[in-house]
Amino acid sequence: MTVDRNELMDRVVALTKRRGFIFPTAEIYGGLSGFYEFGPYGVALKRAIRDLWWRHMVDLRDDVVGLESTLIMPAAVWEASGHLTNFVDPLRQCLGKCKKRWRADHVLGEKCPECGGPLDEARMFNLMFKTYVGPLQDRASEVYLRPETAQGMFVDFKNIINSTRVRVPFGIAQQGKAFRNEITPGNFVFRVREFELMEMEYFVRPQADDEWFSYWRSERLRWYTDVLGLDKNRLRFYDHPKESLSHYSKQTTDIEYEFPFGWGELEGIADRTDYDLAVHQEKSKQDLTSLDPETNERYLPWVIEPAVSVERIFITLLLDAYDEDVVNNEPRTLLRLHPNVAPVQVAVVPLSKKEELIRVAKDVIKALRGQFRVEYDQTGGNIGRRYRRQDEIGTPFCITVDFDTLNDQAVTIRKRDSTEQERVKIADLSPRLNSLAG
Ligand code: ATP
Repeated sequence: MTVDRNELMDRVVALTKRRGFIFPTAEIYGGLSGFYEFGPYGVALKRAIRDLWWRHMVDLRDDVVGLESTLIMPAAVWEASGHLTNFVDPLRQCLGKCKKRWRADHVLGEKCPECGGPLDEARMFNLMFKTYVGPLQDRASEVYLRPETAQGMFVDFKNIINSTRVRVPFGIAQQGKAFRNEITPGNFVFRVREFELMEMEYFVRPQADDEWFSYWRSERLRWYTDVLGLDKNRLRFYDHPKESLSHYSKQTTDIEYEFPFGWGELEGIADRTDYDLAVHQEKSKQDLTSLDPETNERYLPWVIEPAVSVERIFITLLLDAYDEDVVNNEPRTLLRLHPNVAPVQVAVVPLSKKEELIRVAKDVIKALRGQFRVEYDQTGGNIGRRYRRQDEIGTPFCITVDFDTLNDQAVTIRKRDSTEQERVKIADLSPRLNSLAG
């Protein structure tokens, strides 16, 4: 069944609250605009996204290594990278009734989108959060919370080259918090002020950038369709026109998703040239070049960067998976999440609270734990209600232990999408689930 696109976001937001995926930050104090907290199923989904990214970007490759740099970095880094001057958005404020602030490039025309009042002239607003290190709050102690993780990779480039065996072409990957004081956070966790970035800087020879840029474009799109299971008809590439490129970019492609509010950026893939290494080399006076073993010449590598936030994938997955249908004449809500990302992959539900059944159910879950994200649901209520609850959090498989289990050592696998059931010997359960999960 197709849910009305105009209502989809509201339904997904309601579900995430109802089922403990996401809560507004400090809700009992009225919340904090642009900040969200992740509850138990939200944490499980986030971890799955993070782990799958790391697995495909680092663990399954031999040319990418990891890094964790700090969230707070000295002003010198942001000065050199150009963020102090260039990491700005144009801001316009309503001079009419509502006094709201808007990002100028998100407003069409000259009127306030909220109250129709006049808008002031655009001014530039820096998105970085500033704070101070140590007891004095002066110029010398100013530091910034990172708005991207990438600068860590450039600043540590020399350390990594000198301490590992990596040689161009190779990548440095990082996952971690980033902060942007967005003028207009919104669309739930699509645009927030604190989020978790997953970025990879892939260093290549200067002339090889086009080839690697095109490699990473297709590689990243494949990850969304084949590993996360996103609908490929709702994904597309958007190539930025030259005039709207960031200050460091030669070419940028966004992987866009068709959100209920229109096509929007899911991930950005940028050809950052040697911009960052060059400015850090100049300002730090350190040699950041690599040696070409064939020509014996030193050169600054160029960089291709795929960058995406966990939060943006999170909301995309939920919007893509949300569905409503009717089963046994009763309406049902479900998340058709790919088994790779489902917060709970297998739920074990004993048919009744009889002790013999519970004993077997607990043995079953013990055998599956560690291989799958599992949940045990012995709460009262009929089995149908427990299935519905699992459907709503996106659990692809429920295992039912019933009275026949005591005689035939078999259980029922109930599939979320089709609600079909199949009987499987307990001994064969794990391989069968693996093959169903694809
Ligand atoms: P915009 O112009 O929309 O503000 P941007 O082009 O500056 O965004 P990038 O710097 O390309 O954004 O960000 C890389 C990725 O980080 C984005 O594709 C998105 O997945 C994620 N991201 C950026 N800003 C936010 C945010 N405020 N909240 C959540 N995720 C974000």
